[in-house]
Amino acid sequence: PYDVLIVGGGPAGAAAAIYAARKGIRTGVVAERFGGQVLDTLAIENFISVQETEGPQFATALEQHVKAYDVDIMNVQRAEALVPGDKLIEVKLANGGVLKGKTVILSTGARWRNVNVPGEQEYKNKGVAYCPHCDGPLFKGKRVSVIGGGNSGVEAAIDLAGIVAHVTLIEFAAELKADAVLVRKLKSLPNVTIVTSAQTTEITGDGQRVNGISYKERETGEIKHVPLEGVFVQIGLVPNTEWLKGTLALSKHGEIEIDAKGQTSIPGVFAAGDVTTVPYKQIVIAVGAGATAALSAFDHLIRSSAD
Ligand code: FAD
Repeated sequence: PYDVLIVGGGPAGAAAAIYAARKGIRTGVVAERFGGQVLDTLAIENFISVQETEGPQFATALEQHVKAYDVDIMNVQRAEALVPGDKLIEVKLANGGVLKGKTVILSTGARWRNVNVPGEQEYKNKGVAYCPHCDGPLFKGKRVSVIGGGNSGVEAAIDLAGIVAHVTLIEFAAELKADAVLVRKLKSLPNVTIVTSAQTTEITGDGQRVNGISYKERETGEIKHVPLEGVFVQIGLVPNTEWLKGTLALSKHGEIEIDAKGQTSIPGVFAAGDVTTVPYKQIVIAVGAGATAALSAFDHLIRSSAD
């Protein structure tokens, strides 16, 4: 068995692997897609000490760093079940294999919910964005739209309003669902237009980049088009925990509940990164959380090896 078995090979899993391996203990990483979300990212400008890089380049650097240590990387393998046991914890794979760990670190990440309208896929990273903390500055002085009037959408609109020229917030329901204090703040901003009861129908572009957004006024059925340069989709971040339902404590959003040490509700099982209840989903935060989880797993091992 592994001393530390890590499920997920994004920034959190890579950091956990390096921290575990540096303790000289048997470490394995199983990942559906080593690199994780950064593989889908273009510019990364907020990983501290690296002024500017690109997602695929960052993912290669993660893999190189992990490979500098004695770590078993099992890529293109999907975990389907977690089976806690007395001494060993099992991870069942889609290919029928079973891996065992004295401790397990879950770092399966999350994915942004898509609006699924024409133009979204075509203009991803060409005006269509999902992370205001990441991509907001790329739209400095430009016009953008935020799709979604929940807390994340309204927070994004407030954040972006300080950077961009103008924000159009589009909400499907008749009212914004965000907390009242956020809605009040949003309404106080001079460069924000709020459109409710509106269904986004298309993200338009010139073949190269986004040039506008179309929505249907749900009361009149009329289609409106707003010319702009960017669209932030803010209709939810979905944690990759479908395979864990019923085995350990999840929040109402499906995130793995952890404490400050990355401990989950199952002894010996830790979690890190976007898949957890950690506030703010960012690379630098996932990397720190991966280190925390690995150190906690090591601590668990030295405390349980006596019996
Ligand atoms: P992930 O990166 O999601 O990695 C999860 C890993 O788990 C992957 O290897 C995946 O294949 C694997 N996995 C999932 N399910 C299973 C399973 N059942 N079995 C086995 N393996 C599984 N953050 C920034 O800080 N700066 C940015 O500029 C930035 N830009 C972004 C741009 C885009 C387009 C996106 C989508 C995200 C961006 N982010 C950015 C967010 C950042 O990518 C995430 O916060 C970070 O990748 C989270 O790391 P993670 O390791 O927790 O999860």
